[in-house]
Amino acid sequence: MASKIDGILGEADMSEEFGIDVKIKSLLYAFRGTELRADETAAFLDAPERVVIDAMERLCNDGVLKKDDYLECPECGMLNDVKQYRDAFVNGTTYECSDCAIDLSRFAPRIVSVYRRNLPM
Ligand SMILES: [Zn+2]
Repeated sequence: MASKIDGILGEADMSEEFGIDVKIKSLLYAFRGTELRADETAAFLDAPERVVIDAMERLCNDGVLKKDDYLECPECGMLNDVKQYRDAFVNGTTYECSDCAIDLSRFAPRIVSVYRRNLPM
């Protein structure tokens, strides 16, 4: 019985996620060359962020999108390079936000994934 219920819920999930995939693709084609953040896209589409992230990961696997991770400055919201932050952490040096110049190595900034169209320019 449980498997039957799972099957029905699974089908419902599939159609919802398929709808999100299509909406994300339309966003990409509407704004050529744009960057999509999962949190902003979720707010724009009025969809749960987890569903949007799942859809974007699928689009990455399909080669439609590519993903880059950034650190969000807790002060000004600027997106900063993760690798430089990690290098600074390993080396025990400071790493300042490229916009407001606070020392990000004193915080544990949120990692934000930015998705871009994976097309040859
Ligand atoms: Zn900043």
